[in-house]
Amino acid sequence: MTTKTAVVTGSNSGIGLGAAHALAAAGYNVVINSFSDRPEDHALARVISERHSVRVAYIKADMSSGAECRALVERTVDYFGSVDVLVNNAGIQFVAPVEEFPSEKWDAIIAINLTSAFHTTAAAIPHMKSAGWGRIVNIASAHGLRASPFKSAYVAAKHGVLGLTKTVALELAEAHITCNAICPGYVLTPLVEAQIPDQMMAHNMDRETVIREVMLDKQATKEFATVEQIGATVVFLASDAAAQITGTSISVDGGWTAE
Ligand code: NAD
Repeated sequence: MTTKTAVVTGSNSGIGLGAAHALAAAGYNVVINSFSDRPEDHALARVISERHSVRVAYIKADMSSGAECRALVERTVDYFGSVDVLVNNAGIQFVAPVEEFPSEKWDAIIAINLTSAFHTTAAAIPHMKSAGWGRIVNIASAHGLRASPFKSAYVAAKHGVLGLTKTVALELAEAHITCNAICPGYVLTPLVEAQIPDQMMAHNMDRETVIREVMLDKQATKEFATVEQIGATVVFLASDAAAQITGTSISVDGGWTAE
């Protein structure tokens, strides 16, 4: 069996790191990525490699730059010989009323959360076509299907990711390349952890109350989804069992969007 290669954008933390571990555990060689280039980023690659006995490389690339997005894919192919699974995960958040939303924050969120997936996908497709197989998994959000106030850029970007997902799926439908999205509800990652103190202050509530009554208000199970659950969903979408699943999204949101 040929070992396949997966590249996960924004994967030195949170959901991307969880997806990298899950793909490595499933036998893929993995490229992890972020915009930094610290010794601990490369050490993380060694930890994943040793834990799962696969090859793992850390490649620095800033997902706010189209050229660096494309270079990440090309460097992955240079390093491992192919790009078989592409997980577009990098993302940031910023919260403000739309009339006060700083335009540089809008631009950064659209670039990192949406446009990066266009560039990495466009760069990966020729390699996947020549291999005759490929899997593209976009980490969208429940906010790709629903809105919340003060998250205009994030909600717009995530809705855009679902539009891109469907279009790419149709274009590649006969090429044995699928493109799907995962729509997580709240997952307790550094991105979410950073919002808790502000929410505690804004609502004058303790940590447990703000988690249950504010953050998980719409998440019917009242539990966070986990990075392991998202990682397992990525591995499923990359599997042969998912060959006829394309152009759709899987919600891992504790029932949020059932309402
Ligand atoms: P996180 O902050 O833990 O991880 C974000 C990752 O993106 C980090 O590795 C970070 O280094 C990377 N990143 C940020 N800017 C980058 C850039 N310019 N270039 C390259 N990498 C960059 O957050 P997370 O919660 O793990 O989020 C991961 C994805 O999951 C995001 O797209 C987010 O929108 C989505 N998501 C998260 C949740 C949640 O509740 N945590 C819910 C739904 C969707």
